[in-house]
Amino acid sequence: MRPGNCGHWSSVVATEFELIGRYFNRPELAFAHPDVVLGPGDDAAILAQHTGRQLVVSVDTLNVGVHFPADAPPALLAERCLRVNLSDLAAMGAEPLGFTLALSMPTVSACWLQDFSDGLARVAQQFNCPLLGGDTTRGPLSITVQVHGHVPVDQALRRSGAKAGDLIYVTGELGCGAAALWYLQNSELFQARDISAAEHSRWLAAFYRPQPRLAEGQALRTLASAALDISDGIASDLKHILRASTPEGGETLGAVLDSRRLPVSEDFQQRVPADQQVALALGGGDDYELCVCVAPGNEVAAVSALAALGTPFHCIGHIDTGSGIRLINRDGGCTTMPDGGYRHFAEQSAAAPGAGVHP
Ligand code: ADP
Ligand code: MG
Repeated sequence: MRPGNCGHWSSVVATEFELIGRYFNRPELAFAHPDVVLGPGDDAAILAQHTGRQLVVSVDTLNVGVHFPADAPPALLAERCLRVNLSDLAAMGAEPLGFTLALSMPTVSACWLQDFSDGLARVAQQFNCPLLGGDTTRGPLSITVQVHGHVPVDQALRRSGAKAGDLIYVTGELGCGAAALWYLQNSELFQARDISAAEHSRWLAAFYRPQPRLAEGQALRTLASAALDISDGIASDLKHILRASTPEGGETLGAVLDSRRLPVSEDFQQRVPADQQVALALGGGDDYELCVCVAPGNEVAAVSALAALGTPFHCIGHIDTGSGIRLINRDGGCTTMPDGGYRHFAEQSAAAPGAGVHP
Protein backbone atom coordinates (compact mmCIF):
# COMPACT_ATOMS: atom_id res chain seq x y z
CA MET A 1 0.00 0.00 0.00
CA ARG A 2 1.29 3.54 -0.78
CA PRO A 3 1.83 5.78 2.25
CA GLY A 4 -0.57 8.35 0.73
CA ASN A 5 -0.50 12.03 1.64
CA CYS A 6 0.17 11.50 5.36
CA GLY A 7 3.92 11.66 4.88
CA HIS A 8 6.74 10.07 2.97
CA TRP A 9 9.17 7.30 3.72
CA SER A 10 12.43 8.70 5.03
CA SER A 11 15.64 8.72 3.05
CA VAL A 12 16.78 5.59 4.92
CA VAL A 13 15.19 3.62 2.11
CA ALA A 14 14.30 4.98 -1.31
CA THR A 15 10.91 3.33 -1.53
CA GLU A 16 8.42 1.31 0.43
CA PHE A 17 9.41 -1.69 -1.70
CA GLU A 18 13.05 -1.31 -0.78
CA LEU A 19 12.03 -1.24 2.87
CA ILE A 20 9.96 -4.40 2.50
CA GLY A 21 12.79 -6.11 0.64
CA ARG A 22 15.44 -5.15 3.16
CA TYR A 23 13.61 -5.86 6.40
CA PHE A 24 10.86 -8.35 5.58
CA ASN A 25 11.38 -10.17 2.31
CA ARG A 26 14.76 -11.41 3.48
CA PRO A 27 15.87 -15.05 3.48
CA GLU A 28 16.09 -15.27 7.29
CA LEU A 29 12.38 -14.42 7.53
CA ALA A 30 10.73 -15.42 4.25
CA PHE A 31 12.47 -18.80 4.11
CA ALA A 32 11.38 -21.93 2.27
CA HIS A 33 8.72 -24.13 3.84
CA PRO A 34 7.23 -27.25 2.20
CA ASP A 35 3.71 -25.77 2.32
CA VAL A 36 4.59 -22.29 1.07
CA VAL A 37 4.30 -22.21 -2.72
CA LEU A 38 4.83 -18.44 -2.94
CA GLY A 39 5.94 -16.04 -0.21
CA PRO A 40 6.13 -12.21 -0.15
CA GLY A 41 6.55 -10.18 -3.36
CA ASP A 42 3.43 -10.91 -5.42
CA ASP A 43 -0.11 -9.66 -4.84
CA ALA A 44 -0.75 -12.52 -2.41
CA ALA A 45 0.97 -15.59 -0.99
CA ILE A 46 0.11 -19.14 -2.11
CA LEU A 47 -0.12 -22.04 0.35
CA ALA A 48 -0.38 -25.72 -0.57
CA GLN A 49 -3.54 -27.54 0.48
CA HIS A 50 -3.46 -31.16 1.65
CA THR A 51 -6.28 -33.61 2.13
CA GLY A 52 -6.50 -34.90 5.67
CA ARG A 53 -5.56 -31.54 7.14
CA GLN A 54 -7.43 -28.50 8.39
CA LEU A 55 -6.13 -24.95 8.29
CA VAL A 56 -5.92 -23.14 11.65
CA VAL A 57 -5.75 -19.32 11.61
CA SER A 58 -5.39 -16.73 14.36
CA VAL A 59 -4.67 -12.98 14.42
CA ASP A 60 -3.64 -10.50 17.13
CA THR A 61 -2.95 -6.77 17.06
CA LEU A 62 -0.60 -5.03 19.46
CA ASN A 63 -0.97 -1.24 19.66
CA VAL A 64 1.51 1.20 21.14
CA GLY A 65 0.29 2.65 24.43
CA VAL A 66 -2.23 -0.14 24.90
CA HIS A 67 -0.27 -3.36 24.63
CA PHE A 68 3.30 -2.12 24.87
CA PRO A 69 5.14 1.13 25.73
CA ALA A 70 6.55 3.31 22.91
CA ASP A 71 10.10 2.59 24.04
CA ALA A 72 9.70 -1.21 24.05
CA PRO A 73 12.89 -2.81 22.70
CA PRO A 74 12.02 -3.60 19.03
CA ALA A 75 13.63 -7.06 18.87
CA LEU A 76 11.84 -8.19 22.03
CA LEU A 77 8.59 -6.60 20.90
CA ALA A 78 8.79 -8.52 17.61
CA GLU A 79 9.44 -11.72 19.51
CA ARG A 80 6.43 -11.17 21.72
CA CYS A 81 4.12 -10.43 18.75
CA LEU A 82 4.98 -13.66 16.99
CA ARG A 83 5.25 -15.78 20.14
CA VAL A 84 1.78 -14.88 21.49
CA ASN A 85 0.26 -15.71 18.10
CA LEU A 86 2.12 -19.01 17.94
CA SER A 87 0.79 -19.73 21.42
CA ASP A 88 -2.75 -19.66 19.95
CA LEU A 89 -1.69 -22.27 17.39
CA ALA A 90 -0.15 -24.31 20.21
CA ALA A 91 -3.41 -24.19 22.14
CA MET A 92 -5.18 -25.68 19.11
CA GLY A 93 -2.58 -28.44 18.73
CA ALA A 94 -1.58 -26.99 15.35
CA GLU A 95 1.74 -27.00 13.52
CA PRO A 96 2.85 -23.59 12.17
CA LEU A 97 2.85 -22.95 8.44
CA GLY A 98 3.68 -19.25 8.20
CA PHE A 99 2.57 -15.77 9.25
CA THR A 100 1.59 -12.44 7.76
CA LEU A 101 2.54 -9.07 9.22
CA ALA A 102 0.64 -5.78 8.98
CA LEU A 103 2.89 -3.05 10.33
CA SER A 104 1.97 0.58 10.82
CA MET A 105 4.77 2.99 11.83
CA PRO A 106 4.86 6.75 12.40
CA THR A 107 8.40 7.10 10.97
CA VAL A 108 10.93 4.83 9.35
CA SER A 109 13.89 4.10 11.59
CA ALA A 110 16.46 1.79 10.02
CA CYS A 111 17.79 0.77 13.38
CA TRP A 112 14.34 0.01 14.85
CA LEU A 113 13.34 -1.95 11.73
CA GLN A 114 16.57 -3.96 11.69
CA ASP A 115 16.14 -4.99 15.33
CA PHE A 116 12.44 -5.70 14.83
CA SER A 117 13.17 -7.80 11.75
CA ASP A 118 15.96 -9.70 13.55
CA GLY A 119 13.67 -10.46 16.49
CA LEU A 120 10.99 -11.79 14.14
CA ALA A 121 13.54 -13.88 12.24
CA ARG A 122 14.78 -15.54 15.44
CA VAL A 123 11.30 -16.72 16.37
CA ALA A 124 10.27 -17.57 12.79
CA GLN A 125 13.29 -19.86 12.45
CA GLN A 126 12.93 -21.41 15.89
CA PHE A 127 9.36 -22.50 15.16
CA ASN A 128 9.71 -23.02 11.38
CA CYS A 129 7.11 -20.35 10.67
CA PRO A 130 8.21 -18.17 7.71
CA LEU A 131 6.83 -14.73 6.82
CA LEU A 132 4.30 -15.10 3.98
CA GLY A 133 3.58 -11.44 3.24
CA GLY A 134 2.05 -8.39 4.79
CA ASP A 135 1.28 -4.73 4.57
CA THR A 136 3.34 -1.70 5.56
CA THR A 137 1.68 1.64 6.27
CA ARG A 138 2.30 4.93 8.02
CA GLY A 139 0.41 5.62 11.25
CA PRO A 140 0.69 5.11 15.01
CA LEU A 141 2.87 2.10 15.80
CA SER A 142 0.71 -0.99 15.49
CA ILE A 143 1.67 -4.57 14.77
CA THR A 144 -0.77 -7.19 13.52
CA VAL A 145 0.44 -10.75 13.12
CA GLN A 146 -1.73 -13.49 11.64
CA VAL A 147 -0.47 -17.04 12.00
CA HIS A 148 -1.48 -19.97 9.83
CA GLY A 149 -1.08 -23.57 10.91
CA HIS A 150 -2.56 -26.98 10.29
CA VAL A 151 -3.92 -29.99 12.16
CA PRO A 152 -5.01 -33.47 11.08
CA VAL A 153 -8.76 -33.37 10.34
CA ASP A 154 -10.84 -33.08 13.53
CA GLN A 155 -7.87 -33.33 15.86
CA ALA A 156 -7.63 -29.67 16.89
CA LEU A 157 -7.79 -29.01 20.61
CA ARG A 158 -10.79 -26.88 21.49
CA ARG A 159 -12.13 -25.13 24.56
CA SER A 160 -15.17 -27.38 24.45
CA GLY A 161 -14.92 -31.06 25.37
CA ALA A 162 -14.04 -30.98 29.08
CA LYS A 163 -16.13 -33.28 31.30
CA ALA A 164 -16.73 -33.55 35.05
CA GLY A 165 -13.93 -35.64 36.51
CA ASP A 166 -11.29 -34.42 34.03
CA LEU A 167 -8.00 -33.36 35.59
CA ILE A 168 -6.75 -29.82 34.99
CA TYR A 169 -3.09 -29.60 34.04
CA VAL A 170 -0.86 -26.65 33.19
CA THR A 171 2.46 -26.57 31.34
CA GLY A 172 5.39 -24.61 32.78
CA GLU A 173 4.87 -22.12 35.59
CA LEU A 174 2.17 -19.59 36.43
CA GLY A 175 2.31 -15.93 37.39
CA CYS A 176 5.67 -15.05 35.84
CA GLY A 177 4.22 -13.09 32.89
CA ALA A 178 2.21 -10.81 35.19
CA ALA A 179 5.03 -10.53 37.73
CA ALA A 180 7.38 -9.56 34.90
CA LEU A 181 5.01 -6.82 33.72
CA TRP A 182 4.76 -5.56 37.27
CA TYR A 183 8.54 -5.56 37.48
CA LEU A 184 8.89 -3.65 34.20
CA GLN A 185 6.32 -1.05 35.22
CA ASN A 186 6.83 -0.67 38.96
CA SER A 187 10.23 -2.06 39.80
CA GLU A 188 10.28 0.08 42.96
CA LEU A 189 7.37 -1.96 44.32
CA PHE A 190 9.01 -5.23 43.44
CA GLN A 191 11.33 -6.80 45.99
CA ALA A 192 14.05 -6.03 43.48
CA ARG A 193 16.72 -3.92 45.07
CA ASP A 194 19.51 -6.42 44.51
CA ILE A 195 18.53 -7.76 41.10
CA SER A 196 21.41 -9.13 39.01
CA ALA A 197 21.79 -8.60 35.26
CA ALA A 198 20.98 -12.28 34.73
CA GLU A 199 17.78 -12.05 36.75
CA HIS A 200 16.80 -8.81 35.01
CA SER A 201 17.04 -10.54 31.65
CA ARG A 202 15.00 -13.49 32.96
CA TRP A 203 12.21 -11.05 33.88
CA LEU A 204 12.43 -9.33 30.49
CA ALA A 205 12.21 -12.74 28.85
CA ALA A 206 9.24 -13.72 31.02
CA PHE A 207 7.28 -10.84 29.52
CA TYR A 208 8.66 -10.51 25.98
CA ARG A 209 9.64 -14.09 25.18
CA PRO A 210 6.82 -16.41 26.28
CA GLN A 211 7.36 -19.97 25.12
CA PRO A 212 4.67 -21.09 22.65
CA ARG A 213 3.98 -24.70 23.68
CA LEU A 214 3.69 -25.99 20.10
CA ALA A 215 5.23 -29.45 20.52
CA GLU A 216 3.19 -29.90 23.70
CA GLY A 217 -0.11 -28.95 22.04
CA GLN A 218 0.60 -31.33 19.16
CA ALA A 219 1.51 -34.16 21.53
CA LEU A 220 -1.76 -33.66 23.44
CA ARG A 221 -4.10 -33.63 20.39
CA THR A 222 -5.50 -37.09 21.01
CA LEU A 223 -5.07 -37.03 24.79
CA ALA A 224 -6.64 -33.78 25.99
CA SER A 225 -10.39 -33.21 26.15
CA ALA A 226 -10.06 -29.40 26.05
CA ALA A 227 -7.30 -26.80 26.07
CA LEU A 228 -6.47 -23.11 25.79
CA ASP A 229 -3.48 -20.89 26.32
CA ILE A 230 -3.41 -18.76 29.45
CA SER A 231 -3.37 -15.11 28.43
CA ASP A 232 -5.58 -13.49 31.09
CA GLY A 233 -4.78 -15.73 34.08
CA ILE A 234 -5.94 -19.26 34.75
CA ALA A 235 -8.85 -18.15 36.98
CA SER A 236 -10.38 -16.21 34.14
CA ASP A 237 -9.27 -18.40 31.21
CA LEU A 238 -10.54 -21.60 32.80
CA LYS A 239 -14.04 -20.08 32.74
CA HIS A 240 -13.88 -20.12 28.93
CA ILE A 241 -13.36 -23.88 29.05
CA LEU A 242 -16.19 -24.32 31.57
CA ARG A 243 -18.58 -22.24 29.45
CA ALA A 244 -17.62 -23.87 26.14
CA SER A 245 -17.73 -27.39 27.60
CA THR A 246 -21.09 -27.10 29.38
CA PRO A 247 -23.57 -28.91 27.12
CA GLU A 248 -26.67 -26.94 26.08
CA GLY A 249 -29.37 -27.65 28.64
CA GLY A 250 -26.93 -29.83 30.55
CA GLU A 251 -25.46 -29.54 34.01
CA THR A 252 -23.18 -26.51 34.46
CA LEU A 253 -19.52 -27.34 34.79
CA GLY A 254 -17.31 -25.92 37.52
CA ALA A 255 -13.79 -26.55 38.73
CA VAL A 256 -11.78 -27.05 41.88
CA LEU A 257 -8.24 -25.63 41.93
CA ASP A 258 -5.70 -26.43 44.63
CA SER A 259 -3.67 -23.33 45.53
CA ARG A 260 -0.99 -25.58 47.05
CA ARG A 261 -0.27 -27.14 43.68
CA LEU A 262 0.17 -24.01 41.54
CA PRO A 263 3.61 -24.25 39.90
CA VAL A 264 5.69 -21.08 40.30
CA SER A 265 9.34 -20.31 39.51
CA GLU A 266 12.12 -19.67 42.03
CA ASP A 267 12.38 -16.03 40.94
CA PHE A 268 8.65 -15.70 41.50
CA GLN A 269 8.85 -17.19 44.99
CA GLN A 270 11.71 -14.88 45.89
CA ARG A 271 10.43 -11.62 44.45
CA VAL A 272 6.67 -11.66 44.78
CA PRO A 273 5.45 -10.93 48.34
CA ALA A 274 4.25 -14.20 49.91
CA ASP A 275 0.72 -12.94 50.50
CA GLN A 276 0.33 -12.06 46.79
CA GLN A 277 1.71 -15.23 45.22
CA VAL A 278 -1.48 -17.27 44.91
CA ALA A 279 -3.47 -14.29 43.61
CA LEU A 280 -0.86 -13.53 40.97
CA ALA A 281 -0.42 -17.15 39.89
CA LEU A 282 -4.21 -17.45 39.48
CA GLY A 283 -5.13 -14.00 38.26
CA GLY A 284 -2.06 -12.67 36.48
CA GLY A 285 -2.08 -12.85 32.70
CA ASP A 286 0.56 -13.16 30.00
CA ASP A 287 1.88 -16.60 30.90
CA TYR A 288 0.98 -18.23 27.55
CA GLU A 289 1.22 -21.64 29.15
CA LEU A 290 -1.35 -24.27 28.17
CA CYS A 291 -4.25 -25.18 30.45
CA VAL A 292 -5.25 -28.71 29.52
CA CYS A 293 -8.15 -30.92 30.64
CA VAL A 294 -7.35 -34.62 30.66
CA ALA A 295 -9.77 -37.50 31.26
CA PRO A 296 -8.42 -39.79 34.03
CA GLY A 297 -7.94 -42.61 31.48
CA ASN A 298 -5.52 -40.45 29.45
CA GLU A 299 -3.56 -39.08 32.38
CA VAL A 300 -0.61 -41.48 32.29
CA ALA A 301 -0.15 -41.06 28.53
CA ALA A 302 -0.42 -37.25 28.72
CA VAL A 303 2.06 -37.00 31.58
CA SER A 304 4.58 -39.24 29.83
CA ALA A 305 4.16 -37.37 26.50
CA LEU A 306 5.06 -34.10 28.23
CA ALA A 307 7.88 -35.72 30.23
CA ALA A 308 9.34 -36.93 26.92
CA LEU A 309 9.41 -33.28 25.79
CA GLY A 310 11.03 -32.22 29.07
CA THR A 311 8.15 -29.82 29.80
CA PRO A 312 6.92 -29.30 33.36
CA PHE A 313 3.29 -30.45 33.53
CA HIS A 314 1.37 -30.10 36.79
CA CYS A 315 -2.10 -31.14 37.84
CA ILE A 316 -3.70 -28.20 39.67
CA GLY A 317 -7.28 -29.40 40.07
CA HIS A 318 -10.25 -31.00 38.37
CA ILE A 319 -13.51 -30.27 36.58
CA ASP A 320 -16.76 -31.01 38.44
CA THR A 321 -20.44 -30.22 38.15
CA GLY A 322 -20.72 -27.43 40.72
CA SER A 323 -20.79 -24.03 39.03
CA GLY A 324 -17.91 -21.54 39.34
CA ILE A 325 -14.36 -22.13 40.49
CA ARG A 326 -13.61 -23.18 44.06
CA LEU A 327 -10.16 -22.80 45.52
CA ILE A 328 -8.54 -25.07 48.09
CA ASN A 329 -6.50 -22.78 50.35
CA ARG A 330 -3.15 -23.42 52.00
CA ASP A 331 -4.93 -24.63 55.17
CA GLY A 332 -7.06 -27.11 53.20
CA GLY A 333 -10.23 -25.00 53.48
CA CYS A 334 -12.26 -24.19 50.38
CA THR A 335 -13.42 -20.77 49.10
CA THR A 336 -15.39 -19.78 46.02
CA MET A 337 -13.41 -17.50 43.75
CA PRO A 338 -14.98 -14.07 43.16
CA ASP A 339 -16.91 -13.82 39.90
CA GLY A 340 -15.17 -10.69 38.68
CA GLY A 341 -11.82 -12.47 38.59
CA TYR A 342 -8.99 -12.39 41.03
CA ARG A 343 -7.57 -9.03 42.13
CA HIS A 344 -3.85 -8.93 42.48
CA PHE A 345 -1.24 -6.33 43.20
CA ALA A 346 -0.63 -5.48 39.56
CA GLU A 347 -4.13 -3.96 39.59
CA GLN A 348 -3.66 -2.27 42.94
CA SER A 349 -0.58 -0.35 41.83
CA ALA A 350 -1.22 2.46 39.35
CA ALA A 351 0.13 1.15 36.07
CA ALA A 352 2.25 3.54 34.04
CA PRO A 353 0.17 5.17 31.28
CA GLY A 354 0.76 3.54 27.95
CA ALA A 355 2.21 0.45 29.46
CA GLY A 356 -0.96 -1.49 30.25
CA VAL A 357 -1.15 -4.81 28.54
CA HIS A 358 -4.77 -5.78 28.27
CA PRO A 359 -7.08 -3.93 25.91
P1 ADP B 1 -0.41 -4.35 -2.80
O1 ADP B 1 -0.38 -2.88 -3.03
O2 ADP B 1 -0.62 -5.18 -4.00
O3 ADP B 1 -1.25 -4.74 -1.61
P2 ADP B 1 1.94 -4.13 -1.21
O4 ADP B 1 2.74 -3.00 -1.74
O5 ADP B 1 1.13 -3.90 0.02
O6 ADP B 1 1.10 -4.74 -2.41
O7 ADP B 1 2.92 -5.34 -0.92
C1 ADP B 1 3.80 -5.82 -1.90
C2 ADP B 1 4.35 -7.16 -1.45
O8 ADP B 1 5.12 -6.96 -0.28
C3 ADP B 1 3.27 -8.16 -1.08
O9 ADP B 1 3.68 -9.45 -1.49
C4 ADP B 1 3.20 -8.10 0.43
O10 ADP B 1 2.80 -9.33 0.98
C5 ADP B 1 4.63 -7.76 0.79
N1 ADP B 1 4.70 -6.99 2.03
C6 ADP B 1 4.31 -5.73 2.27
N2 ADP B 1 4.54 -5.37 3.56
C7 ADP B 1 5.08 -6.46 4.15
C8 ADP B 1 5.51 -6.75 5.48
N3 ADP B 1 5.43 -5.85 6.47
N4 ADP B 1 6.00 -7.98 5.69
C9 ADP B 1 6.07 -8.88 4.71
N5 ADP B 1 5.69 -8.69 3.46
C10 ADP B 1 5.19 -7.49 3.17
MG1 MG C 1 -0.94 -4.61 0.36
